[in-house]
Amino acid sequence: MIGRKPTDHRVGWGHVGEVRVCGGGQGRMWRVSTPTLGDVVAVLDALYPPALAESWDAVGLVTGDPEQPVRRVLFAVDPMRVVVDEAIAWDADLIVAHHPLLLRGVSSVAATTPKGRVVHDLIGSATALHVCHTNADNANPGVSDALADALGLLDTRPLKALPAEPVDKLAVFVPVDEAEALIDALAAAGAGRIGEYERCAWSTTGEGTFRALAGASPTIGQVGAVERVTEARVEMVMPRRSRRAVIEALRAAHSYEEPAYDVYELAAQPGDTGGGRVGVLHTPLTLREFAARVAAALPRTEHGVRVSGDPERWIETVAVVGGAGDSEFERVRAAGVDAYVTADLRHHPATEARAHDEPALVDVAHWASEWPWLADAERLLVAALAERGSTVETRVSTICTDAWSFRA
Ligand SMILES: [Zn+2]
Repeated sequence: MIGRKPTDHRVGWGHVGEVRVCGGGQGRMWRVSTPTLGDVVAVLDALYPPALAESWDAVGLVTGDPEQPVRRVLFAVDPMRVVVDEAIAWDADLIVAHHPLLLRGVSSVAATTPKGRVVHDLIGSATALHVCHTNADNANPGVSDALADALGLLDTRPLKALPAEPVDKLAVFVPVDEAEALIDALAAAGAGRIGEYERCAWSTTGEGTFRALAGASPTIGQVGAVERVTEARVEMVMPRRSRRAVIEALRAAHSYEEPAYDVYELAAQPGDTGGGRVGVLHTPLTLREFAARVAAALPRTEHGVRVSGDPERWIETVAVVGGAGDSEFERVRAAGVDAYVTADLRHHPATEARAHDEPALVDVAHWASEWPWLADAERLLVAALAERGSTVETRVSTICTDAWSFRA
């Protein structure tokens, strides 16, 4: 049991009492701590923010005490009986599942019902259950990224992009020799951050003029006299949520009694989160070859891989939606892709798409389309915990929980 974090690992990260001190390489000592369920959930919520979940969804913790230690985590698509049995047999402390156990309202979890029995067994074995469903679909990287990666898609973008965080632009007029200090103050309050750059600002100089009225205490000039001042116009962007803090910083840093400034709400832009992905294959494949790639990339199911389209047509651009993708045909058409890979396609929407000679359709098992995400979530959770000096043992369930068990 070797950790990667040196002995000065952050204090305050809520590890439970058991701190194992182990020998590291080159005679160094390393400490490994076991996270609490609350710690693990905090990491999962950062990876898959609950705010990204659809309004009808039920994500988050289903069973478990945030104070309990988490040593073993099992990742699975469905928190079904067989998966819960696997978790209990492996002595898992936590199941991270994609699909909710309890999506609709329940008035009883008595052990006399199948789901009530599962809830009892989870609590009885101190196995926590945490659900990342549409919040994992909409996150980046999320469920469809894992599917796109498995199929070798490059340059992916969301099929159904959520709007990026709302942004304002601030323009403020300040005496030229105060401009740099003002930019520092605004940046410290959250303005001027663009991607991996901070303190971004643009300025030009011009002339400001004003006449102070009786009762004013002008920083420059006299009451009643027209003043002219060389001022910089400084422009900076800011997240809309920081507007109040930035304006307060502006008023605190600016020497004028009444600083002049404008706040513009910038047009909404698509962001990098949202469901489905559109990407491109490194090398075009025939539909026959592409379908074979899909079959090889995903776990085998009785459902298999169903294909609609001319096997010899060329496929270069592809849309994918992990899980049921019936509702996204409009967006897939608008994206102008050569093929659409998803699950649960029904007869009418599929035949309509075929009649328009639109994208070739590759229909896979629902479970299989979401299964690649498990390893992704596992890797990201382990890495994020390691950064905090904590380790957990993890496993991805390979039990196929797709609904279809055989073909006659
Ligand atoms: Zn699903």
